[in-house]
Amino acid sequence: MLLDVTHDPARRSWVESANEAAVDFPVQNLPLGIFSRDDEPRPGVAIGKKVLDLRQARDGGHLDGLAPALGPALGARALNALFALGRPAMHELRARLSDLLCAGTPAALRAQRDPLLLVPMSAVTMHAPADVGDYSDFYASIDHAMNVGSMLRPEHPLLPNYRHVPIGYHGRASSIVVSGTPVRRPYGQTAAKPEGPPGFGPTQRMDYELEVGAFIGAGNAIGTSIPLGDAEQHLAGLVLVNDWSARDMQTWEYQPLGPFLAKNFATSISPWVVTLDALEPFRVTPRPRDEGDPLLLPYLLDQDDQTRGGFAITLEVWIRTARMREAGATAERLSQGDFRRMYWTLAQLLTHHASNGCNLRAGDLIASGTVSGPDKGSRGCLLELAWRGTDPITLTNGEQRTFLADLDEVIIRGWCEAEGRVRIGFGECRGAVMPAAS
Ligand code: MN
Repeated sequence: MLLDVTHDPARRSWVESANEAAVDFPVQNLPLGIFSRDDEPRPGVAIGKKVLDLRQARDGGHLDGLAPALGPALGARALNALFALGRPAMHELRARLSDLLCAGTPAALRAQRDPLLLVPMSAVTMHAPADVGDYSDFYASIDHAMNVGSMLRPEHPLLPNYRHVPIGYHGRASSIVVSGTPVRRPYGQTAAKPEGPPGFGPTQRMDYELEVGAFIGAGNAIGTSIPLGDAEQHLAGLVLVNDWSARDMQTWEYQPLGPFLAKNFATSISPWVVTLDALEPFRVTPRPRDEGDPLLLPYLLDQDDQTRGGFAITLEVWIRTARMREAGATAERLSQGDFRRMYWTLAQLLTHHASNGCNLRAGDLIASGTVSGPDKGSRGCLLELAWRGTDPITLTNGEQRTFLADLDEVIIRGWCEAEGRVRIGFGECRGAVMPAAS
């Protein structure tokens, strides 16, 4: 285990809001993001309801003595350069930040006197944490694959490759947006019957997908692969992802090459990157493979990954409709998922991605695919929750949904809990559906 003093549950911060019960950003978390006030976007760390300005911390001498390469990375407008330094540099930074923000240390006493160091979270604008060069999305929840497969092919819901190979597709990086960005209902080709003919118009089956995303840290050179045992050295941290999907467009276009315009109009991500180090206390044995499952090919099998390749992350999807907002009602929960139930680990996804020599670069994003579970309450998209439009869900105020309506706001939340550990959270990934362009 790589637990150290930064995970110590006894550590408390001099930033009082970080010590409240069930906050997302206690001193044990220290997630990284890019924020701005009235000036240039810059790296920051979330602590309670405040943001610590990393550029200011560097310039104020609070980060002296760390690896020299950290200096320029902490002045950048995106976290790519920091991620590229890899796990050891990020580990070193975390240790110093913990010291700075922990009550009573000499570093903290000095930091507390620096008025420029902390900014209220309510006063900042958050930006995408990295310039995402490439984005790939997987299909790693077998419960999701089973549910969707059984809608399409009731006799054999799971395709023969599923238990052998992590299925994914190449998403689009240009349309990744940070939480809070409105998402416009897309136009596309849809057909009422499988054989067509199609029409062209706004999607009538706008959906969300609850996912976890992983930012690549240190990359690999083209033509080289990443052994599973090293995979996590190439992961910088995790965010929440909403892979917005137009189901009617998807049904018409997905064969034979997979999703395209049904997915690439927008993908929302949460702004704070929870580092692999912060997640260390929440590592778990991944979901056991089912009885009769084929043996894993050797490149996807690693003892350490089998033992602790999972992450105990609880995930929730909430909805707030226009009517709920008008009535002053709070958001309503649609589902709760468990990231432990994924069929493939993040390390397996990463290793598989690079297994053909594909180069992954710092700041690239890979996402898990919709996180669903075996029960109705754990289905991670409306396609499953309302079973392809056949079983509408009814909200407390009587509104019904099969798919998203204009002005519906979707809010994804995630957090980790473990016995004897301080809970850490991911914050939110939020986005509202705007009417289609006229
Ligand atoms: Mn997806």
